[in-house]
Amino acid sequence: MRVGVVGGGQLGRMLALAGHPLGITVTTLDPNPASPAAQVAPAISGAYGDLDALAELARACDVATYEFENVPVDAARFLATRVPVHPDPTALEAAQDRLAEKTLFTEVGLPVPPFAPVDDLGSLRAAIEGIGLPAVLKTRRLGYDGKGQFVLRDALRADDAWRAVGEQPSILERFVAFRRELSVVAARDADGAIASYPLVGNEHRDGILRISRAPADVGAGIRAAADAHARAVLERLGYVGVLAIELFDVDGELFANEMAPRVHNSGHWTIEGASTSQFEQHLRAVCGFPLGEVSPRGTSAMVNLVGALPTTTDVLAVPGAHLHLYGKEPRPSRKVGHVTIVADDTAAREDALARLLPLIPEA
Ligand code: AMP
Repeated sequence: MRVGVVGGGQLGRMLALAGHPLGITVTTLDPNPASPAAQVAPAISGAYGDLDALAELARACDVATYEFENVPVDAARFLATRVPVHPDPTALEAAQDRLAEKTLFTEVGLPVPPFAPVDDLGSLRAAIEGIGLPAVLKTRRLGYDGKGQFVLRDALRADDAWRAVGEQPSILERFVAFRRELSVVAARDADGAIASYPLVGNEHRDGILRISRAPADVGAGIRAAADAHARAVLERLGYVGVLAIELFDVDGELFANEMAPRVHNSGHWTIEGASTSQFEQHLRAVCGFPLGEVSPRGTSAMVNLVGALPTTTDVLAVPGAHLHLYGKEPRPSRKVGHVTIVADDTAAREDALARLLPLIPEA
């Protein structure tokens, strides 16, 4: 099988690496000729919206997919006229617009923090009245890692918030005092079979994921609710591939924050920590192969390397540590790699994590 991937970042790279043992050739499309994926697999260099480049990608594959959610929907639809594209571009469309995404969640029964669309300063003031403060103003499009957001605690700062998000269509969302952030990573195949990985507990700093722990320490009720939420979204979209949904745990009740129609950073632990990695799982689904087992191997923690690299020797000396580097030049806030620790039990995992964290440069 030949799989075309729009995007050649670390997710494309890890998809390509996961394809090798299965005899799946992954070809990526990325504007950067030296992208992380281009370093390990065939790659086409071109803009995501470049029809010639997209046509070349279509010729190089039997099925196409994407590794980031801001692929232009038109590009995905163009590809779909030539090869099967999974997940369907409608999933991309929903994930690109926070209003469409929250509306979808509500329609399929996922609780979300109260929200309202904001199109100008007048509707922002009305939304503040309706939703109350504190609240978060978020751009509808192109926000990631906390970018394009403003936490509003004082109605007098409405003007500042509106300017901070660039005076563009946004949503105002109630600020929820969550106990923790969780994510569910799940896959659906073309026959409708669904497999959900154990829930993941996520720690962010400055809007960027820093540490994931899996399986998260949650009760059976939360686990079942998260699986049901994932199933509801996957089935509504007739989804094929891996999907991630970020959730807030507010006193045992789950609220959906956002979804990613692709493999996800909070699923990187599955490479060593689960029977089937999320990358292999995504390839299995989009290629029409059966899904793999999702059971965990012991307990895992994944630490992102952000902005700077640690010393390889030091990291590899930590028991159970697996280092992944993405072939990217370190820059502030840039994810340049990750380390996964797999241990037999949570005490051993936390011991190893305590050894690892001081080795990770803060950037
Ligand atoms: P997002 O880009 O929507 O994933 O938001 C980035 C981060 O901001 C989340 O991971 C949360 O830590 C925080 N955040 C987003 N929305 C809310 C909210 N409604 N209430 C509290 N914190 C939030």
